[in-house]
Formats: sequence, structure tokens, C-alpha cells
Amino acid sequence: MRAVVYEGPNDIRLEDVPEPVVQDPEDAVVRVTTASICGSDTHIVHGLLPKMEPGRIIGHEFCGVVHEVGGAVGRFKPGDRVVGAAAVWCGRCRACRRGLYSACERGATFGHGPLLGDLPGAQADYVRVPFADNTLQHVTAPDDRIIFAGDILPTGYSAVAGLSPGGRGVREGDHVVVFGLGPVGLCSVASAKLFRPAKIIAVGNRAERLALAERLGADVTIDAAGTEDVRKAVRQHTDGWGADYIVEAVGKEESLENAIRVAAPGGVVAVVGAFQAPIKINAPRMQARNVTVAMGMGDLGAMPKLVKVIEDGELDVSPVVTHRMSLDDVIRAYEIFDKRLEGAVKILLTT
Ligand SMILES: [Zn+2]
Ligand SMILES: [Zn+2]
Repeated sequence: MRAVVYEGPNDIRLEDVPEPVVQDPEDAVVRVTTASICGSDTHIVHGLLPKMEPGRIIGHEFCGVVHEVGGAVGRFKPGDRVVGAAAVWCGRCRACRRGLYSACERGATFGHGPLLGDLPGAQADYVRVPFADNTLQHVTAPDDRIIFAGDILPTGYSAVAGLSPGGRGVREGDHVVVFGLGPVGLCSVASAKLFRPAKIIAVGNRAERLALAERLGADVTIDAAGTEDVRKAVRQHTDGWGADYIVEAVGKEESLENAIRVAAPGGVVAVVGAFQAPIKINAPRMQARNVTVAMGMGDLGAMPKLVKVIEDGELDVSPVVTHRMSLDDVIRAYEIFDKRLEGAVKILLTT
């Protein structure tokens, strides 16, 4: 079968590799119909993921059709259409019992090499899926509407629903700000609408992404590149009170500082931007104004709910798809995605 294989920094290739088989009774093998390229894939391609080794298949966003199941898989049979989670979890360990699936003791992320469980990725014709009853969800909606339910959407959604089990999410009537309009930030904008906020303010610096944010439900957009004082602009749109709920989806110290500084008294800053190193944080401001900063990984346990709201027509993040390409053109697809050519936001690879 074809698979996108990491061969070293800035060297990926479409190679012919053996098809995966069921190795454990809880495994399924899925024939991938659509895979997507994620920002963390380009991070890997650039050689920035520790312990990554040549020969590993990458990719962790996929939908497809169940091809084969192990004897302990109860929810799926060959022929079922499914969407997969980016990572797998056992459902039985201490972390899983507390709903913290991203911390599963037996967890692994597709296509992230030995650092994260050495699970072959999904940018391929077939992928082996451990703990299939947890990892997969049945779907009826088309691939381009459903594929993000396994990765960027749970992250963007968790950022507005509460980042840890029982955490405070957006409440009805909140003024919400989203800093950063990459795919995750855009998913937060779309998801925030489900919580009936008073206003959603999207802050980004690319015209096409600001337009996308508007299409996905932002009431106000602020172009950070063309605005002298972003914090002042946010305050003006929140009647001087500040924002009740802020999503930080950039992953930079300056952006988190802005998020804390625009927070209203009692406000919450939910951080899903990917930080690469320790940073300074404005503790005095947080303390003086009872501002909470929550950080974390997306909750993949939200997948069943997300599949349902997508299929009920309440949520549609498919406008983030800017390119549909064949898996055979994957090298060019990575170049377009990485350099953000042609206004690329999300690229789907079809098999
Ligand atoms: Zn991803
Ligand atoms: Zn577990």
C-alpha cells in the first residue's frame, strides 16, 4: 500500500509498504478514504519532534471504512464508515477513568514516532487502529465535514467547552475572544456558537482567515497586523468590561499576555496554542482580577458529541478545507500547506 513515510528532516516520501494487520483483539484495520495534513505533521517533517525515526508513517487525521476487526471489537464490523481519533486510549486506566484520555497510560498518537507510542500514521491506504471501540466513531456525513472530529475540532471545541473534565467553558451571554485563527482557533470560533455567547471576537492577522472566522460565526474580527492596540480594540468591543472567556490558540508569550490583559474580572483563558518552551506569565494581573488560565490537550472524549452536532447540522467546520488533493500528490500538498500557498488552511488527501 502507499504511505507517507518520514525519512529524516525535510525528507518525506510516498512509499510502498506492507499493509497493516490486526495485532491485538481490540484492533481494527481501516481503509483510509480521506486523510488530512496538520500543523503537527509539518513540525515532524521539519525534524522538530524528538525521537522521530526514519521509516515511520505519519498522519493522524483520517476517516475511512472498517476493513478488518479483532475478536474483541464490539461496535464495528467490516464496511462501517468511521472517523478516527488522532490518539488512542484504553478506557480502563486511572487517567481514562477520570476522563483524561490524553494522559492514558497505554495511549499513543498516530504518526508521532517512538515519543508518543510508536503507532504508524494514517496518511496511507490502510491504518491499524488500537482500542477501536474507543478510537473510532460511526459516521454518515461526507468525509470533508466529519474528518476534523478526530483532532482539530475536539481541540478547538474543548477550548470553549472547558479544557479538563468539569472545567468552566463558555457560558450563555459571555463575550468570547479567540486569539489565533489557525485551524484550531477557527474550530473554536465555530464551536463557541454552540454555547450562545453574546459576542465572538476573532483576532488574527491574515485577511482570508479573518473572512473564514466570520463565515464560521465570529461577530467581530480584528486584524492584529493592522491594529495598533489589539487589547484596546477588544475592550471597545466588550463595553470596556473585557472578555469573559478567551481562547489562546497561538502558543506565544505575547499572545497569552494579551489574552490575560483583555480578560474581564473572573475571566477564563483557555490555552490550546502549542508552546515550545517555558514562558513568563502575568501572575499579578491574574491574581488581582481572579483570572483563570487553563491549559491542556483537546478532549477526544468529545468525539461522539461532535459527530452528532455535525450530523444534526448544528456545526460545520468544512469551510476550513481549502484544498482537496490525491495522496499521490502528497509532497506538493505538504509544500502548499507548510508555506501557506494559495491561501491554504486545511488540505485533504484522498486515496
Ligand atoms: Zn493534528
Ligand atoms: Zn487509559
